[in-house]
Amino acid sequence: MSAPPNICVFCGEPGNSKEHYWGQWAKKHLPGSADRTWHDVRRPVASAGGVLSDSVRKGPMSRQGALRNQQIRGACRVCNGGWMRELHERAAPILLRLAKSEWWPLNDAERTAVAAYFALVSMMWQLADRETMASTASERKYIMEKGVPPSNWIVCIGECKGQDWSEEIMYTGFQFDSGFENSKANCHQFVSTFGGMAFSTFSFPTAAFAGFSFAVSGILNEFALQKIWPLGGAVIGTPKRSLSDREMTKLGNLFYIN
Ligand SMILES: [Zn+2]
Repeated sequence: MSAPPNICVFCGEPGNSKEHYWGQWAKKHLPGSADRTWHDVRRPVASAGGVLSDSVRKGPMSRQGALRNQQIRGACRVCNGGWMRELHERAAPILLRLAKSEWWPLNDAERTAVAAYFALVSMMWQLADRETMASTASERKYIMEKGVPPSNWIVCIGECKGQDWSEEIMYTGFQFDSGFENSKANCHQFVSTFGGMAFSTFSFPTAAFAGFSFAVSGILNEFALQKIWPLGGAVIGTPKRSLSDREMTKLGNLFYIN
């Protein structure tokens, strides 16, 4: 695979550097404990008779060191030290309380701060495998300029008490309208945890993609997740229940068709 061009995927200016997905601050408060990161890239492939099977290969993020401490190339230092840092600083005090399962009814500003942070983490992770990257240049420019997730993104949060999921990410990038092979992903689901929090981000081609929104409302119910982005809807308070490791894995597999 060719190396990414040396431009920042957010501002489009020349120069990119290795930056932490989660931001340096997260590493300080929630250090990873694993000594190695395992990254598998799965693809559904059609075999004889049209039956889908899995092809699994080792992903580029398979490295020494915990996931939380990993860095990825894509953003420039100006973005990292500027708007990204501001976005991290805005979310950090809220996230550190939620990570300890301290819940309260989040107001709009708090929801926005948390949603923007998780959307950015999702966008950064997507750089790990550009073939399945669903975020677009205009979505990345949007979060950079406005400090909020794009309107066609959904961010939801819940609680996870699972042990295996304390340092885990599952990501599915897919194309909604035609086959999954040889086409650029235009939808995604990202699932991870932050301390005792579970969270998931979704995106789809437009904000008015009714079928997808409907599917997501079923997911929120089943997994006791609360939507924090887009704003609106019920007041966000204590989640109805905590998710187990098994449920987190099920959540992460929802859009994988095989
Ligand atoms: Zn930049």
